[in-house]
Amino acid sequence: MKKEIKNVPRCGLCGKTTKLTKTECCNQWICDDEGKYVLFSYAKNSCFRNHNRYTLCACHFNEGHSGNWKTCSKCKEDFETEMYVYYGTNEYNFEKLKNPPKYKPTRCSKCNSIINLGEDGYSMQGENYYCYNCIDF
Ligand SMILES: [Zn+2]
Ligand SMILES: [Zn+2]
Ligand SMILES: [Zn+2]
Ligand SMILES: [Zn+2]
Repeated sequence: MKKEIKNVPRCGLCGKTTKLTKTECCNQWICDDEGKYVLFSYAKNSCFRNHNRYTLCACHFNEGHSGNWKTCSKCKEDFETEMYVYYGTNEYNFEKLKNPPKYKPTRCSKCNSIINLGEDGYSMQGENYYCYNCIDF
């Protein structure tokens, strides 16, 4: 007889079924893998860390806002619209924003190429953004 596997908890992000914990913000099963993260490596290989750092769900919870993050106006004010959309729609979310607001792409002040604030390296000086290629190290 086949084993019943319907109710096995699995990570809502990657689907693993071992070593799980629950998120504080939304009470979802997630990999208990924060220890895997190497300090300052900026690797995005930890489900737990990714959800905790790169989603509105977790920021909303950590900032102590009330209500649902998807309808929270404070979250909207706290972030650049581009980051708001990124944090609300990236793959580290269990639920994504249904109607993310539109925003103008951020462009490098030097070479005018589009910078993806969520994924690309960039530097900010005052109002200006510089793409990874134009950063003076
Ligand atoms: Zn996972
Ligand atoms: Zn959450
Ligand atoms: Zn909020
Ligand atoms: Zn540039």
